[in-house]
Amino acid sequence: MHKEVFATYFANVVKGHRTIATFKMSSRPTNCYMRNEKSPQCAKCPLKPCRSDPEAKKPAFCPMLVYPEIIRESMKEYENEFVKRIHRSATLVEKEGYGVWPRIREVVELCKRLSIKKVGLAFCVGLSEEASKVDEVLEAWGLDVYSIACKCGSIDKTWLGLEERDKLRPGSHEPMCNPILQAMLLNHVGTELNVVVGLCVGHDAIFMRYSKAPVVYLIAKDRATGHNPAAPLYSLHYFSKRVLP
Ligand code: SF4
Repeated sequence: MHKEVFATYFANVVKGHRTIATFKMSSRPTNCYMRNEKSPQCAKCPLKPCRSDPEAKKPAFCPMLVYPEIIRESMKEYENEFVKRIHRSATLVEKEGYGVWPRIREVVELCKRLSIKKVGLAFCVGLSEEASKVDEVLEAWGLDVYSIACKCGSIDKTWLGLEERDKLRPGSHEPMCNPILQAMLLNHVGTELNVVVGLCVGHDAIFMRYSKAPVVYLIAKDRATGHNPAAPLYSLHYFSKRVLP
């Protein structure tokens, strides 16, 4: 039997310290606790009690049982003023526009609450029309928008060591996407927030790594679903041959 103890976590989400959760945990050394349990795997948690009752029974793989030190460590990070401001603003945007504001409006509202004026758009040339509309909407709200297309530099894909046969149209000049350049140019002009409009899977990861400004997603590119990556999950029966092994 495990002796039960109570752990209390604090966060600086508002001025001064405030208790945000109190719940039971095992008193066993946590790095030994459930040693054989793979954790985290919250996607397999059936009831997700963390969202309503921190003291409710949890599955053995629950990170709240397995990794209390890391949870404490994460809360200390919110003492960082930069992180705290973004988090609080995002939470207030969520509260005010819940289920009403489309994501593009949420981006605007986040900028307003953070007093951000200079915004970068990193877009895929395949979504040029969408990027143009995003530019228009953000400017209509008074934001100073800088936008950069993925093919900027027009460096042929063979520069990466790829073969002509690896191109979509072999034999033609086919520029590589250049997410590092996209990030570097936006860093150069000093954007305060960068917005992703349809970068390729993987190129987006590079862009986020090189961007100095925080990055938010507006459009996750998915050519097969009209840029709705959740669609195959809602219609797995129809997409199964394309989604499952
Ligand atoms: S209760 Fe634990 S395992 Fe379940 S979703 Fe929450 S954190 Fe994950």
